[in-house]
Amino acid sequence: MRYTVLGTGIVGRTMAAKLASLGHEVVVGTRDPEATLARVEPDAYGNPPFPQWRVANSQVGLEAFADAAAWGEVMVNTTSGAATLQALEAAGAANLAGKVLIDIANPLDFSQGMPPSLNPVNTDSLGEQVQRAFPEVKVVKTLNTMNCQVMVEPSRVVGEHSVFVSGDDTDAKKAVTELLVSFGWAEASVIDLGDITTARGTEMLLPIWLRLWGALGHADFNFHIAGARTGA
Ligand code: NAP
Repeated sequence: MRYTVLGTGIVGRTMAAKLASLGHEVVVGTRDPEATLARVEPDAYGNPPFPQWRVANSQVGLEAFADAAAWGEVMVNTTSGAATLQALEAAGAANLAGKVLIDIANPLDFSQGMPPSLNPVNTDSLGEQVQRAFPEVKVVKTLNTMNCQVMVEPSRVVGEHSVFVSGDDTDAKKAVTELLVSFGWAEASVIDLGDITTARGTEMLLPIWLRLWGALGHADFNFHIAGARTGA
């Protein structure tokens, strides 16, 4: 399968490396490939510059958002939540149309400082905004409720734990669930919450996730919904 990972941050890199390790063809999308390849400073989170990661992952391509989106069969959105709609505009509605878009972004709003708040929140979500802006895309919100290392290596967290999927297209959610299983998730750990409006709930887990991170002092933890299989 040809996967386009939109985003060059730690989440995009982690997803791209995992997909490539599973034998998929992968291209990462960015605003300006030349500028991205010229980076020498760590990013805002202290991660090494993208070119350093690329040395160890040379099988992964790097293209401008539009070229990357046109090439891929499945899209993975790992852009900054505040810039997701802009990034997808740059990717181009025609290039995205008819494709599954796995949306991992969270609408964190750092404008009032730390900890970030959410925008949108409560009565809307980023997942819904993306689906409204790109009605021909099959948006599946998932994996946004955990650290990116856990997304692709669930065994980092001891014991059972859960991953949520939200989206309007049943077949798209089924395909994404199969991908999650290929990452190492037990199928029973995948909880289909329903349509894309349910992304409000998973995006609103971020404030508690951030506080748990602070309290526990590490990111190898996740939510576990006890009793989730009872009604299945
Ligand atoms: P990030 O720093 O939040 O985002 C980096 C990406 O956003 C880059 O590709 C960048 O483009 C793009 N971007 C920034 N401003 C833009 C603009 N004005 N227009 C278009 N694109 C723009 O990366 P991250 O830390 O890897 O997080 C990615 C997403 O995953 C976020 O939404 C985050 O909330 C979510 N998330 C993160 C984790 C985690 O473990 N860190 C867990 C769950 C969810 P360039 O490539 O051109 O620089």
